[in-house]
Amino acid sequence: MRARRQAYIARTPALRASFFPLPARAEYTVTPNAPKILLLPLALALALSACSRESSAPAAGAEAAKPTLDESALPPVNRFQLADLGEPADACRDLNAYANGKWLAAHPIPGDRTSWGSFEMLAERSLAAQRQLAEQAAADADATGVEKIVGDFWATGMDEAAIERQGIEPLRDRLAAIDALTDTASIAEHLRATAARGENVLFGFGANADFRDSEVNIAYAVQGGLGLPDRSYYFDEAHRDKLAAYQRHVARVLELSGVPAEAAAQQAEAVVAFETRLAGNSRSREELSRDASLMYNPVSLAEADALTPNFPWTRFFESQGVQPPQTFSLAIPAFHQEVDAMLAEVPVEDWKAYLRFHTVDSASPYLSDAFVQANYAFYGKTLRGQQEIEPRWKRALGTLNASVGETLGQLYVEAAFPAESKARMEELVGNLREALKLRLEKLTWMGEETKRKAMAKWETFTPKIGYPDTWRDWSGLETGRDSYIANVLAANEFNYKYDLAKIGKPVDRGEWFMSPQTVNAYYNPQANEIVFPAGILQPPFFDPDADDALNYGGIGAVIGHEMIHGYDDQGSRFGPTGNFENWWTESDAAGFKRLTDRLVAQFDAYEAAPGLHVNGNLTLGENIADLGGLAVAYDALQRAREGQEDPKVDGLTQDQRFFLNWATVWRRNFTPEELKVRLTTDPHAPANFRAIGAPSNLPAYAAAFSCEAGSPMVREGGERIVIW
Ligand SMILES: [Zn+2]
Repeated sequence: MRARRQAYIARTPALRASFFPLPARAEYTVTPNAPKILLLPLALALALSACSRESSAPAAGAEAAKPTLDESALPPVNRFQLADLGEPADACRDLNAYANGKWLAAHPIPGDRTSWGSFEMLAERSLAAQRQLAEQAAADADATGVEKIVGDFWATGMDEAAIERQGIEPLRDRLAAIDALTDTASIAEHLRATAARGENVLFGFGANADFRDSEVNIAYAVQGGLGLPDRSYYFDEAHRDKLAAYQRHVARVLELSGVPAEAAAQQAEAVVAFETRLAGNSRSREELSRDASLMYNPVSLAEADALTPNFPWTRFFESQGVQPPQTFSLAIPAFHQEVDAMLAEVPVEDWKAYLRFHTVDSASPYLSDAFVQANYAFYGKTLRGQQEIEPRWKRALGTLNASVGETLGQLYVEAAFPAESKARMEELVGNLREALKLRLEKLTWMGEETKRKAMAKWETFTPKIGYPDTWRDWSGLETGRDSYIANVLAANEFNYKYDLAKIGKPVDRGEWFMSPQTVNAYYNPQANEIVFPAGILQPPFFDPDADDALNYGGIGAVIGHEMIHGYDDQGSRFGPTGNFENWWTESDAAGFKRLTDRLVAQFDAYEAAPGLHVNGNLTLGENIADLGGLAVAYDALQRAREGQEDPKVDGLTQDQRFFLNWATVWRRNFTPEELKVRLTTDPHAPANFRAIGAPSNLPAYAAAFSCEAGSPMVREGGERIVIW
């Protein structure tokens, strides 16, 4: 995920991922209710970061007072505690029940969230810190640079009276432009014009490294345009009630925008039919997660123009102010062909209904209360089981993070990230790398030729810790204190143009795809880099004062996980320099597939709710990363402790504490609705299965708790899976 949540955000992390699934990055977890993708899908995936050459070091805004934090006002840190443990016999039956059962029973989900656990508690702490920083920035009338941007976003986001006064007025011009559409040509022109402001509701468009030449950015056009989290919502019986509720939501939003009730109901039907047609030609979450190459379909402009005669790409590039390139990636051609056919076949009135709805719906979080409540009622409550809307301050921070996250990140790092943490992390990463090297060398299922390539890839891993070396330059972004949505739209356009400016240029390897305050981590196969924002470098993951067992079981396993993404089913399709290339011999590839098929079967067997199983295919990459990552972290702990005594702490050995902290990270409750959305869209298995899935394959786990053969937590013989 990326960063903060905004209660009712519809197209949560899930959708964001679909716009640019794996190649962009594999995250450690998905944050529920992550900030909505504003008006542009792909740009958000790429917007949060990037660095200019202007400033360096966290203390860039030197003229301003250093931001400060009142630690005593922050929510408590969540750590592993002896008192949380259940019956010792449970260690061999169900590690999650043993380590987290008591905690989970005692910690129901707060009303404004749809999940609650270690990640969320840390995110809550990060939010409270961000609030203090935003308030300080807003209080400084002379603020400039990132402080002014943060202050303006915060002040307007909290100014409920002004937002209420403006109602839907800020969208008037946009809605009038839609009302004026008359034919195919005018719709195509409208799509180009709105896209140029970063408000493309129909498909994603932006810069990303070329799969075959990871040094250079090219343009990608990718599927989009759906209001629901996955294509399956439009067709599967299991989601039938959500589809019906969505249609009612569409009608409600249209009515709020001024369409009479009866017409709104008819238009809603047309919008759902429109999206169902798009969905029929879209790829599923599962397909996009498991086949990175779907994102890469290089075509010449002439080929693209011939494919979609009603929507010529040459004109599209020109309208976006981008020099028409030799080639670009038209990722899912069937999707764009369908859009092209729809331009000719779908009645203009239906197009207008679709555009009107999405224009209002995506802006709803920044409009007056009626729009905010409608948005929450569907995307928060109905879709995800959220019981109450988040307080305004959390929503305002969610927007700030989604729009200009790194500005706030700059203040966050100054106030909340100690330099010692970075040094300690560098040491941990170094130890994990060494442990991974030894495991690679000892692999028995892989031939020497492939192994040499795997080692070459190991050589080029690049870690990034805490925050970017160089902060992005935000000059040119105009924000003010008059209008919340004006600030949001300005940032949206600014980010879109910033992204488009990268097309045809060398990739900036200093760029970050998460802001520093994010409680998450990621691997980016196109740069072979592992990235750990400051936000996750806190307990229970990381604590400079904790012993090795806890740190290796926490952040150590995260480091291992991100490195193993380089060797998961998708990451392993990229080479040492980040190019999409096959470095596998045929027989080693077949051997790898045999092993991963068994991991698919292990997770397919987990029943998450009555009749609902984990999707072993959708979650394969993450499960490979967990399994290898935990094994590497365990090895690294042994190396770090070599020759030392094993001082029991609270009667627990170092190995036991290592596994218990791993499980502590994965304590997490979900609403039934949230769980259901995730089983369809989240490439990570639900937390309770992540807690047990990897340890049950490690002999070291069985040994640590003296589990007998045949125990549920002990997979043995032909059942045990070791990949990396
Ligand atoms: Zn991951």
